Amino acid sequence: MINQHTFNDIAAQISAATHRQFDVTATKSIAGGDINSAFILQGSTQNYFVKLNRANLIDMFAAEFDGLNALANTKTIQTPRPILYGQAEKSSFLVLEYIEFTRMTSSAQRILGEQLANLHQQKQPYFGWTRDNTIGSTPQINTHAYDWATFWREHRLGFQLRRAAENGYSGKLQHLGEKLCARVDDFFTDYTPAPSLLHGDLWGGNIACDAQQRPIIFDPACYFGDRETDLAMTELFGGFGADFYSAYNSVWKLDAGYQTRKTLYNLYHIFNHVNLFGAGYERQAQQMMEQLLSA
Ligand code: ADP
Repeated sequence: MINQHTFNDIAAQISAATHRQFDVTATKSIAGGDINSAFILQGSTQNYFVKLNRANLIDMFAAEFDGLNALANTKTIQTPRPILYGQAEKSSFLVLEYIEFTRMTSSAQRILGEQLANLHQQKQPYFGWTRDNTIGSTPQINTHAYDWATFWREHRLGFQLRRAAENGYSGKLQHLGEKLCARVDDFFTDYTPAPSLLHGDLWGGNIACDAQQRPIIFDPACYFGDRETDLAMTELFGGFGADFYSAYNSVWKLDAGYQTRKTLYNLYHIFNHVNLFGAGYERQAQQMMEQLLSA
């Protein structure tokens, strides 16, 4: 239960972390997130954005805190500055710089495309990340691997497939999933991606602009992986314009095989939707797998 005590406790922790007294004068609930409750904490001179969830989900916020820092450290693209994460009363929380979001113009879409390509040029020798994190509230395993197809099969598709089995999805979904996992290597016969720093959950609900029309990405699920996975997700639920794609390609052109692999990559998110939001996404997952198996 989130109440005034919770907000006051968070305000005290903000004061300690920023070495600047912060008292909450008002709170405003923000709609839009799928997983957490979100609020603006208003003070007399300063506002903060806070997300809350159950106390035992603190690692989810710790990982998001690290992800936002990893993105910010690249200095390629703007993200909300993470202030702190912690526990207050019966909740865990993440506090970020509050940014007044505005709608994206086509020129902001163009800048976002260029900046995302610059972000993707931040590379590591391995796939995975420094820690596991979450995709939605589902665990996302980032154990290091040096072969991308193995990483994708084990830690992305295979993981979601096993979780779907635990959630009671058997029969056709499992049958198609196992068949596809056995054939993942086929999608990489003439393509070897480099490990790029990814946002990891780049749908239209996780981009915005500030008042100066600078693009902002937020709510990441970072890891080092094939840059095509970020691009694929931008196409899954819409919200990215032609200017975004042409700007991205002008900095770093996509490989022609992306058109096939994007379904393989988006399948991970649709599987996650099956696991998080239920059977309404089962048919879509099956159709995607049938399409991939006939490719
Ligand atoms: P969830 O983790 O539940 O998906 P989000 O991180 O997507 O939550 O945040 C929920 C909503 O809050 C977003 O859709 C966005 O409109 C708003 N929001 C997110 N971060 C900030 C921020 N730093 N400043 C202001 N508003 C934000």
